[in-house]
Amino acid sequence: MSSSPYPHLLAPLDLGFLTLPNRVLMGSMHTNLEETGDWDRVARFYAERARGGAGLIVTGGMAPNAEGAVFPGAAGLFGPEDIANHRKVTRAVHEEGGRIAMQILHAGRYAYNPECVAPSPIKSPISPFVPKELDEAGIEKQIADFATAAARAREAGYDGVEIMGSEGYLINEFLVTHTNRRTDRWGGSYENRMRFPLEVVRRVRQAAGEDFIVIFRLSMIDLVPEGSTFDEVVQLAQALEKEGVNIINTGIGWHEARIPTIATSVPRAAFTWVTAKLRGKVGVPLVTSNRINTPEVAEKVLAEGHADMVSMARPFLADPAFVAKAAAGRAREIAPCIACNQACLDHTFSGRITSCLVNPRAGNETLLEIRPAAAPKRIAIVGAGPAGLSAAITAAERGHSVTLFEAADVIGGQLQMARRIPGKEEFDGLIDWFATMLTAAGVDLRLGTEATPEALAGFDEVIVATGVVPRRPGIEGEELPHVLSYVDVLARGAEVGERVAIIGAGGIGFDVAEFLTHAGESPSCNLELWLKEWGVVDPEIARGGLDPAGPHPLPSPRKVVMMQRSPGKVGRRLGKTTGWIHRLTLRMKGVKMLAGVNYERIDENGVHVSFGEARENPMLIEADNVVLCTGQISERSLAERLEAAGMTVHVIGGADVAAELDAKRAIDQGVRLAATL
Ligand code: NAP
Ligand code: SF4
Repeated sequence: MSSSPYPHLLAPLDLGFLTLPNRVLMGSMHTNLEETGDWDRVARFYAERARGGAGLIVTGGMAPNAEGAVFPGAAGLFGPEDIANHRKVTRAVHEEGGRIAMQILHAGRYAYNPECVAPSPIKSPISPFVPKELDEAGIEKQIADFATAAARAREAGYDGVEIMGSEGYLINEFLVTHTNRRTDRWGGSYENRMRFPLEVVRRVRQAAGEDFIVIFRLSMIDLVPEGSTFDEVVQLAQALEKEGVNIINTGIGWHEARIPTIATSVPRAAFTWVTAKLRGKVGVPLVTSNRINTPEVAEKVLAEGHADMVSMARPFLADPAFVAKAAAGRAREIAPCIACNQACLDHTFSGRITSCLVNPRAGNETLLEIRPAAAPKRIAIVGAGPAGLSAAITAAERGHSVTLFEAADVIGGQLQMARRIPGKEEFDGLIDWFATMLTAAGVDLRLGTEATPEALAGFDEVIVATGVVPRRPGIEGEELPHVLSYVDVLARGAEVGERVAIIGAGGIGFDVAEFLTHAGESPSCNLELWLKEWGVVDPEIARGGLDPAGPHPLPSPRKVVMMQRSPGKVGRRLGKTTGWIHRLTLRMKGVKMLAGVNYERIDENGVHVSFGEARENPMLIEADNVVLCTGQISERSLAERLEAAGMTVHVIGGADVAAELDAKRAIDQGVRLAATL
């Protein structure tokens, strides 16, 4: 075996007619890039990942036909013009020595389209449209369209296709009685429900030929009621093997499942045990996935025999060179995916370009170039939060001489608070990565150092990234000793009583509520605890892997009430793909959420509130402590002093705009500014 620290991860995989260089599959992600029509941009996105060493890339889902598209107008591979566009991608990937398969995704009843189709006319809880029930001719058309898409993919130069058979899309809908109530040869017994996927694979193989990779993404644990049993999963996998698939990839949970599967609070490699159950039952290589984000985790999963290959998707947004860095012994320099979804899936599902909080270049490879500086400068940066850190690293990588001043004795700024929240442990890795990169880039870091105008005088450029301070809401009684700020709770370790009223229900209010309702070990670091908390069991024990007794949340050590002034749903502005998880977690912990609140006053008994414009229903929210999570204001005093002294400064991050600031905007602004200096 090689002397590499990742012998399993970096071992080649022989598929018979071709050999993949390593065990890393870059999983499918919809990027919205194809829909821009700029195929050079699409090609560059994938080519950078091929250059970075991904063993096999799978594209975002391409619709086989209009009714199967995730939304009207979503990219597909419909005619000669599309084939020419896709050729740009395959050529660019091959020029980098990579391999790429096109995913064929038929969205079934998840298609955002009144013309969507499914085995039975049952609306999904996450879509407004009742799908049209497919008749015999309709089913034949769908199968034929899959086969045509595969033939076109081959013509466009792809090395293979992945048939999307999981996450609750069309193929998955045929497999389970949750969505398939048919009584003809496509429904009823499992043999009948399996017929559609098997026909699709058979016809795809016929259309595409033998020396072409066919991957089937199989839903191994549906996490929905009436999902598959594990016996059915095994039966399907064996039948797929007979039809000639080359690789079986793992799908975990349907989109409508109310169990988190990829969010940051999901433990790393939380579902690889499901793939492991299938090992030995089929001869084809198995790919496992979900929350694998470092070479160490990937290596362990493979070494323990859970799978033959690992799929990582978002980690390739955070760092296209993931594999190359691991192979070169530079794993610590891999920008970590913290599974926040903030710049990837939250963007994808709101029609924006998929990017990455940690790496704003993702999806913008042709637009945001980091080139060596024409003339190296002396640059001072004040504040080592996400904005200052990313500006410092980017500027230093470009060849500038960078000094970074930080008043605290640690780097990270607001990230230091995020990392203390149970379920946000990934922030530790992000802070570590920033520290590694500061050193690698040669930034002169001055911790515990207040930057004065005198100290900044000799620099060519000064960047002020001094962040934010908590906003005082101006409520009568807020100066009482039992009233704390979120900084007291999260950064200074203040004692907090058993009854807590949280004022403000933005991201920080939710974070504080999660912090205060947990005791002991974080379930995100203990898989057994986490599975129990969410009610996930072995699919051999219960259909779909759902515990019939439901979730078993750990009891909260405190009674928490969270409030906001605005009416409507509490936590409305949380991330599109993660807000529901935060709301559900807190509900399971018994947190009470109140909207439309007027804060009349705070006294030693708690918070006196009323509701609505008419100040109705006055009541006392009894509390031992009140925690203010009422947003932030910019810390601009240094910037103002420098400007008053006639200096030109760049102000970025929270010091620039505090409203709704998050690490995504801070890092993006830091990188973009540093790219221009
Ligand atoms: P925020 O999202 O702006 O929320 C502030 C909260 O305070 C709101 O509930 C607001 O709601 C309330 N508020 C504002 N002014 C007030 C006043 N004068 N009196 C009483 N209540 C007031 O700010 P944040 O929660 O501090 O978060 C800061 C940033 O960090 C946000 O952009 C957030 O998204 C980000 N963050 C993100 C995450 C994440 O997981 N992605 C986690 C933490 C923080 P009402 O006006 O309705 O009362
Ligand atoms: Fe990972 Fe967050 Fe980047 Fe998405 S935005 S790839 S979840 S770090």
